[in-house]
Amino acid sequence: MKAKIIDGRVVASKIISAAKDKISRMASAPVLASVVVGENTSVTSYVKNQKNVCVAAGIEHETISFEPTVTKRELLEEIARLNAEYKITGIMVNLPLPERIPAYEIQAAIAREKDAEGLHPANLGNILYSGAVRSVYPCAAAAVVECVKSAGVILKGKEVVIIGHGDVVGKPLSAMLLSSRLGAATVTVCHIATRNLAAHTRRADVLVSAAGRPGLVTKDMVKEGAVVIDVGINSVELLDDRGQKIIDPKIGSTAVRIVGDVAFDEVADIASAITPVPGGVGPVTSAMLVRNVVSLAAARKLK
Ligand code: NAD
Repeated sequence: MKAKIIDGRVVASKIISAAKDKISRMASAPVLASVVVGENTSVTSYVKNQKNVCVAAGIEHETISFEPTVTKRELLEEIARLNAEYKITGIMVNLPLPERIPAYEIQAAIAREKDAEGLHPANLGNILYSGAVRSVYPCAAAAVVECVKSAGVILKGKEVVIIGHGDVVGKPLSAMLLSSRLGAATVTVCHIATRNLAAHTRRADVLVSAAGRPGLVTKDMVKEGAVVIDVGINSVELLDDRGQKIIDPKIGSTAVRIVGDVAFDEVADIASAITPVPGGVGPVTSAMLVRNVVSLAAARKLK
């Protein structure tokens, strides 16, 4: 393997300890309210992880759980209550929500100054203004920027190709990397309708995949020496030598493992630096949530 591994846990621990230091100088601990609807293995594991990083940084984490039958109105009422409760510093709503509840409406109802994930439409929109005063960025997009910086890459003028134009990662990331403050890179955004994906990705000095498609990025799509950031989180079923599903006796169903979008082993032979999955962008995303909550707490004090 040629590539340097970008260890997200190391990047995250530096961010969390800087946050802890700031929090230790605050009069009271910030509080993050995390809203969960229904039960979903990946959300349960993300919330557990949020709690751990919050506790490590000195943030109080409150999980507010709803049955999957909750109505949009009940959720909006809870958001209004959390907006009004002074002790709550930040609010986040774990996705996915049931299909009948539009995530946009719920994110938009969170008070802008309590928007822990940086996904309020006004906070997202401010990314487009170079002069905007802002305190939060979408966590996964900000995590990509941190991973790239940790690899020592100067983004100015570099060719960055992003696969994925989702609202939470690809789109905000493209605007962030265009901004003079965070990157001033030359940004190409590819998506499901892009013709000849490889023709774009092969030009990338920095290639970011946020598509949610295991094995999408193969060696032939990557330029020698590129930095490859894998945002994808995909659960794939484990098969035995005969192609049969392996049953995990502990859970009584098919064993799965988490992989990214990038065919890691082959791409690591050609890239100069690469993030693994798990252990790459994921832990840094949680650290960015902590950083956002600290920024919200600090911005509140200035008022
Ligand atoms: P999304 O569904 O909103 O967007 C997916 C994007 O990928 C779309 O633009 C789609 O057009 C594109 N795409 C899908 N298949 C493609 C293909 N074959 N070729 C080219 N483009 C293709 O998803 P999202 O919310 O942006 O999340 C993307 C991935 O990132 C998911 O795996 C998600 O789990 C992961 N994610 C990871 C973190 C983290 O902390 N690591 C955080 C958020 C999301």
